[in-house]
Amino acid sequence: MNWVEFCDTLWLVFSKIFPPKYHPDGRAMTMVEESQHWIVTCRTCGFETNIHAIGGIRYRASGTKGVRFKCPTCQIMRGGTVAFRQPH
Ligand SMILES: [Zn+2]
Repeated sequence: MNWVEFCDTLWLVFSKIFPPKYHPDGRAMTMVEESQHWIVTCRTCGFETNIHAIGGIRYRASGTKGVRFKCPTCQIMRGGTVAFRQPH
């Protein structure tokens, strides 16, 4: 196996673990586009925003995760839950 084949194999494995998210029109989303579909919900007041709006980029990841962000409603740092929401 040469270096190029090795990279291809590595990429195949990687794309299986982190499948790209797609737009409804079929193309793969860019990093910024995808981050705009990661919704952060404040655990205290339920305020929702996207992770791009709070300055984060979440790309090629899945599942849910907690973050700390400055909630505009609570006006202090709060714990939030991050979840991917498919574009409609
Ligand atoms: Zn809040």
